[in-house]
Amino acid sequence: MKILVTNDDGIFADGLRTLVKELKNIAQVVVVAPDRELAAIGTAISLYQPVRAKKVTPVIAGVESYAVEGTPADCVILALDKLVKDKVDLVISGINRGTNLGDDVLMSGTVGAALHGSLHGLPALAISVALGDNLYFDDAAKFAALLARKIDAQVLPANICLNVNLPNMPIGEIKGVKITCPATKSHTDIVEERYDGKRQYYWFVRQRINKAEDEKTDSWALEQGNISITPLLTSEVNRPSPPIPDSLCSDLFYELQQLI
Ligand code: MN
Repeated sequence: MKILVTNDDGIFADGLRTLVKELKNIAQVVVVAPDRELAAIGTAISLYQPVRAKKVTPVIAGVESYAVEGTPADCVILALDKLVKDKVDLVISGINRGTNLGDDVLMSGTVGAALHGSLHGLPALAISVALGDNLYFDDAAKFAALLARKIDAQVLPANICLNVNLPNMPIGEIKGVKITCPATKSHTDIVEERYDGKRQYYWFVRQRINKAEDEKTDSWALEQGNISITPLLTSEVNRPSPPIPDSLCSDLFYELQQLI
């Protein structure tokens, strides 16, 4: 299995490095990621400026790594079209520092990269972990590897796109794994009026709505200490949801517990 790894926190982010370190145990990994952090860039691609890529010191020894002056989506397109010579089997974006829940899926660069993988006919995962003092990237990376193996074993549909969010806690404290849909109202956007000394300007602040009401949503799953798996790119194109076997969540949770 060959896995393409990207993110929106930039190629030097801890979440990406931890993910690559774990995936290297189960697959061939290649990293093509932005050379800097890009927040809320979504699925944007660079159509009006040159996109440059540079082979850099491997993120983890032995892993071919490229830094791209471009968006996460640019990285996926460039990797699949030019940089990676062999066939890629799976695209994983993350591990993002902070959740991507509800309407975040429409804005997140982490999710945007995964969506582009799926648009290119590949299975894709976006993986994010909730913020906290001490981030449990290692535990999230182990879960990413479990999911990658399920995809490799063709337990899931061929070009499925999953948005995966983990609570920030060790595996031993995670309550379960839930298949969810994005919460419809997950944030409020506040526009602050500020003054820079010469002119007025506006500053956008996104605030999470704390209480999720719908029990099928990603926000609710996280609040309850579960891992949330949201299939994307299904309802948008008016197709029935991809079939996910009922046993997947209990299998994943059982296997996760075996890692403690
Ligand atoms: Mn990010």
